[in-house]
Amino acid sequence: MSSELLVWLNGELVSKSQAKVSVFDHGFLYGDGVFEGIRAYNGKVFMLDEHIDRLYDSAKSIWLNIPMTKEEMKAAILQTLKVNGLRDAYIRVVVSRGEGDLGLDPRKCLKPNVVIITDKIELFPNELYERGIEMVTVSVRRNSPQALNPNIKSLNYLNNILAKIEAINAGKPEGLMLTLDGYVAEGTGENIFIVKRHELFTPPAYMGILKGITRKVVMDLSREIGYLVHEVVLTLHDVYTADECFITGTAAEIVPVVKVDGRVIGNGVPGSVTKALIQKFREYTQKFGVPID
Ligand code: PMP
Repeated sequence: MSSELLVWLNGELVSKSQAKVSVFDHGFLYGDGVFEGIRAYNGKVFMLDEHIDRLYDSAKSIWLNIPMTKEEMKAAILQTLKVNGLRDAYIRVVVSRGEGDLGLDPRKCLKPNVVIITDKIELFPNELYERGIEMVTVSVRRNSPQALNPNIKSLNYLNNILAKIEAINAGKPEGLMLTLDGYVAEGTGENIFIVKRHELFTPPAYMGILKGITRKVVMDLSREIGYLVHEVVLTLHDVYTADECFITGTAAEIVPVVKVDGRVIGNGVPGSVTKALIQKFREYTQKFGVPID
């Protein structure tokens, strides 16, 4: 095992300090590319097929041909985790349009760059999972699906970054993004759920959100426990008057939300449904996944 982290770069494992791509890469110049964030828990990669399918779907949608099969991609991810000796990790797969010239024309980019980074991640401090976080609605709206469909997990994250900056400027760890019409969309990098009378509600994917893989797992686990789950259009009023609220994402997992725009949600502490789901989700991630070796 090398002491320096190894990064998979176009078929080779190179040390972190040597893992470089050209400044003429259109991923760098224009945010032209796609990516995935994946987790490994307890020596297994969680929801690997789902993440790979979404990566290839995102690429297809932007006319980007990933120069390897899904099977090769999965093998490369497992190999990168293995050489780095990682059993619990965050995996970032990036496929950019590749090196071109200063014009937009992607035909100048002959070879996409494929990068797999495996590392540790901590999005929110541990205590926030116990206490819950406060969110604030930001003024920047989620991209319209008519302009750039949020279902594409592209390198173009400026929309989300601007929202994150607004939240940080407001002194809150996470921002709530609305659609152009003012309906609830999602967090800056997480999907949102509310709980009302022990039933779960989350915005449908067609509202213009990323169709989160954690969101899907949470919906399945909720139904397994016996809670009804509804994908419905939500207003801020629905959120303010919910019994519980939480956000979901690969990096964040499930984070309770106890205050939104100054309104206390429920009792102002993580609720019983949220806590049950966090528990169930943690058990699930420890058990299921594609073994690293
Ligand atoms: N929404 C956005 C905008 C995201 O970037 C992400 C992923 N970080 C999510 C939702 C959650 O998706 P997933 O559960 O697949 O990580």
